[in-house]
This record gives sequence, C-alpha cells and structure tokens, in this order.
Amino acid sequence: TPRVFSGIKPSGGLTLGNYLGAIKRWVDMQSPDMDNIYCAVDLHAITVWQDPPALKAGTREIAAGLLASGIDPENSILFNQSQVPEHAQLAWIFNCVARVGWMNRMTQFKDKAGKNAEKASLGLYAYPSLMAADILMYHATHVPVGEDQKQHVELTRDIAAKFNSDFGVDFFPQTEAVIEGPGTRVMNLRDGTKKMSKSGDSDMERINMLDDADTIAKKFKKAKTDPDGLPETVEGLAGRPEAKNLVDIYASLSDMTPEAVIAQYPGASWGTFKPALADLAVTKLAPISDEMKRLMDDPAEIDRKLARGAQKAREIATPILEKTYDIVGLLRA
Ligand code: ATP
Ligand code: MG
Repeated sequence: TPRVFSGIKPSGGLTLGNYLGAIKRWVDMQSPDMDNIYCAVDLHAITVWQDPPALKAGTREIAAGLLASGIDPENSILFNQSQVPEHAQLAWIFNCVARVGWMNRMTQFKDKAGKNAEKASLGLYAYPSLMAADILMYHATHVPVGEDQKQHVELTRDIAAKFNSDFGVDFFPQTEAVIEGPGTRVMNLRDGTKKMSKSGDSDMERINMLDDADTIAKKFKKAKTDPDGLPETVEGLAGRPEAKNLVDIYASLSDMTPEAVIAQYPGASWGTFKPALADLAVTKLAPISDEMKRLMDDPAEIDRKLARGAQKAREIATPILEKTYDIVGLLRA
C-alpha cells in the first residue's frame, strides 16, 4: 500500500501557505487504501531558537489545525516528532551517509542562515538529513509538500540510494514528492518574489489560519499589487508575481483552476477582486479556526491524541530502525 508522510514545524502560527500547500492536500489525500502519517516536527523547529512554552503551544496548534481541517486521527497517524525517538536515531545514521557537499547545495539553509551562516546552528545545517529520516522511517512512498521542500525530498532519495548501495541492500524506497495544484507556492503578500512563511518578519505578509475576518480582509486589502487589475486571460499574469499569487490563492481555496478564476473575474479591478478573495478565505478558514480554538481549549485531550499517534507511529518505526541498525552493523543484544 502507498504510504504518505508529511510534517509541519511548530515555528510560529499556521499560515494560509501551510494550509493550501500542505494541510488541505493532506486532508484530500486521506483514503482507506493508503497509510497516512502526519507529524508536528518539533525537532526541526528547534534548529532556530524557540521559546520553550511557545514551542509546546505551537505543537498543539499544529495538531488542532490538522484535526480541525479534517485529518482523522483514527485512520491517519498524527503525532509530534520528538515522541518517536527513532527519528533522531535514524537521522544520525543518515548524517553518516549524506555528504557535506550535498548539504552545501541546500537553498533553504542559505535562506534561513542568512549572511552569517557561521552563526547558524549545526542542526539547521543537518536539517535535511533529519527530514530524510522522518520520511524513510516509515518507508513512505509519497510526500505531499509545498514547492519549497522539493529539494529536500530529492536529497531524501539520494540518501536512500546511497544507503542501499553502500550496504548492498534494497531497503529504503525512492520516495516521491507530491507537489500539485495552484496552492503549492503561496507567496508573501508584501513581496511576491518570496514565499509566505510562518516565521517571516511581518504579520502583514501572511494570512494566519487563526486570523479573524477583519484581519484577513485588511491583509488582502493591503497586499501588494500592480496598478493593473486582473487580466482577461491567465497569460496576462506572466511577470506579475503578486497578481498571480492572489489568483492562485483564490483558485486553490475554491478548487478551481486559475483559468476559471480569471474567466469569472475578467479584467476585474483589485477593488473588486480583493474583497471577493477575502470573503472566500473567511468562508473557508472561519469554520476551521473556530474548531481549532475549541480544540485548543482542551490541551490535555490534544496531548492524549498525540501520544496515541506516537504509539502507532513507533509500531512502524521500531522494526525499521532495528533493521537499519542491523544492516549497518550496530551490535544489538
Ligand atoms: P518556517 O518559516 O518556519 O520554515 P513555513 O511556513 O515554511 O515555516 P514549514 O513548517 O517549514 O512552514 O512547512 C510545512 C509545510 O508547508 C511544507 O510542506 C511546506 O512546503 C509547506 N509550505 C510552507 N510555506 C508554504 C507556502 N508559502 N506555500 C505552499 N506551501 C508552503
Ligand atoms: Mg519552511
């Protein structure tokens, strides 16, 4: 059976980028013919500084966001990474398989480390090897992620291939990234050349899943655009990243193609389109954020669900780690 794994970091509040690029697609992918494993990757979050109480709260927010969006904890496995210690254990093995030169090519490290890479944590540098462990820990076949994670999934394939060839085994699969639809790269509302991120500097550049209706309307209203409104056809979005982004967000929220969105609002002004987009976003997000808040009122219940998920995850992870140790030659009693 195909097995899906994906994760989100508790490094800030969930954004519309996380929702459209990841969560919404995970919900749509759930099916009885697949194993679905979803994770709040707290060990990844601490590659940059996290306030400890905020990290715990953020982990619960991710769980609440996934549950409220429709991840079913009975049929999918939902847990936080640090409760399954096998992830960190497998990551160490992969640190010894991956090459320094591979890590040097990772663009996310360059973006996140900024100009002063010497001051970045060693964990931030090794992040892709932990991500490979997250995925390969479950022999996942498919990883639905946003466009920004494509390079890390490719590295995961390289690590799997090198492990298999170094040890002469056919053990870790070649996992495929699933990056489909208009929501896989939601851009920053103030700068259409950068992606929307939960850890970005300004709150105005992103829509948070927990933003209220007025805030959502205000952020779209203030979103950067060029003076031209919507074009008559999608070709007219070429070279206009901010305009394309707003159309793509509309398309993704409404399960339409960008072509169909343009056909509905041909040549519309921003004064017409932005409020329509805000209304659509509120219609889709408000029921989810209401349910998230309800769930977050009972943190103990979220913690119980995560612990149960971790138990189920470990049932898969433990034998795979044991087998890996055996292949590598690590002596077990
Ligand atoms: P951070 O700024 O801390 O890296 P983030 O918003 O990038 O946070 P992640 O936890 O790194 O979120 O990523 C979780 C998932 O959301 C990944 O699958 C990632 O590809 C996806 N994702 C993140 N940002 C976007 C975006 N702007 N558009 C589409 N998908 C996104
Ligand atoms: Mg990110």
